[in-house]
This record gives sequence, structure tokens and C-alpha cells, in this order.
Amino acid sequence: MNKKQVRISAKNLGQLALPDYCPRCFYLKLKLQFKLPWQIFPGIFSTIDSYSKKITWQYYKKHKIVPPWFKPFGNFTGLLPVPHWSKFYIVDSKTGIMLNGMPDDIFIMADGRYFIVDYKTAKFTDNQDALIPLYVIQLNGYAYIFEKMGMGKIGGLGLCYYEPQGDAPTVSFETVIQDDGFDMPFKAHLKRIKLDPAGVVLPLLKEVRRYADMGKAPVGRDGCRDCEILERVVGVVG
Ligand code: SF4
Repeated sequence: MNKKQVRISAKNLGQLALPDYCPRCFYLKLKLQFKLPWQIFPGIFSTIDSYSKKITWQYYKKHKIVPPWFKPFGNFTGLLPVPHWSKFYIVDSKTGIMLNGMPDDIFIMADGRYFIVDYKTAKFTDNQDALIPLYVIQLNGYAYIFEKMGMGKIGGLGLCYYEPQGDAPTVSFETVIQDDGFDMPFKAHLKRIKLDPAGVVLPLLKEVRRYADMGKAPVGRDGCRDCEILERVVGVVG
């Protein structure tokens, strides 16, 4: 029997791995294709993300090697242009789930395999640590798509946190001052992610299919006040 195709990004798939994930929330998001109403995201993070990628590529074009702060991830011989998300996907024949995404950068390893890296603009704090289960799925999702599409073999995965250096310099204060503003430095903090594409991704694709086939939304997380408030609002205006 042909199942209705359901699309999900590798990053959204990762929500299933968060310890506090709510089945009801996930079901509703899936039905809405993860396009939620009343959401406002500051554009600054995608601007910094895009800036980070340009820094990597411009350094590579000039020096023919990737920037030095990636050295702890290994020896790289080049960069692979990252396919646009509309061309980077697989459809799992068993579940009918389309998995897509777009890695930030793909480095070429000395042995011919590839290394996927994702950039985060954040300090590596306990709060970021709590998101690691999501990033494990996101990066292994990219690896799974990459290998299934026949683009090559993945040899490693990693996160690069660009941490804004919050304290204004005192001694070298003048070096960051420009006529029209100021510069703010970022430092890289690397974190390697365990590689296990099929082991991580396949059980979650089955889980997505289970949610997609549910006739109605499951119950929400115990004690979540937001759903209680919504019930009350719907009770008033409904
Ligand atoms: S219980 Fe909370 S997290 Fe779950 S659907 Fe309701 S508002 Fe969302």
C-alpha cells in the first residue's frame, strides 16, 4: 500500500530526541508542516550563519585550506559546495517519509571521505548542551541523506559554535572601533558528534510515520500550562 508522503527536515526530526518533547506538540507541528503561527525569529542568526560560511569559503579560496580553528576535527583537503535543500533529500520507501535539509559546510577529508559541519551562533553553555540530542539527529540526518544520494562516504560530524566575545576589550579597545560602528570578535568552540546515520535516523522515520497516521492529536505533556491556557481561551471564544 502506498503511504501518503510526509516531508520533514533533519533538524525538525531531531525534536523527537529532546528529553522534554511533547507528543501533542510534535503532532500539531507535523500537521502544520512546522510552519507555526505567531512566530517571530530575529534575522540576526541567519545573517551570522551566512557570514560564517562566507568566511570559511573565502579563507579556503585564498589559502587552499580550511580555516585553522577546524584543525581539531582532522586534516581536510577541500570544501564541497553544499547542495540547496530542494536538491538534498531522500524518500524512505518503507515509511514514505521525505527527509531533507541543508548542511552548513561539507569538508573533504584526506582519505576521500567527507565531514559535515554545522555552525551555531551561541556560547557553549549548559543550555546548548541540552540541545545536543537534537543536533545529533540533525547531523546524522544530513549524513544519511548524503550517503543514500550516493554523494560519498561520511567520515565525521561536528558542530562549530561561534561564541561572541561579550567583554568589550579594554587594552586594545581602539582596534574594534570603526568610524561607523564597532567590530565584535567571535571564537570557535568545536564539538564532535557521534556518527551513526542509519541507527539514529531510521527508528525516528518510523516514529514520524506513526504520528502522520494518527487520527487525532495525542495528549500533551503533563503539567504544561500553555495547553491549559489554550483550553480556557478556546472555551471562552469557541
Ligand atoms: S502540552 Fe504544552 S508542549 Fe504540548 S502541545 Fe500543549 S502547549 Fe505544546
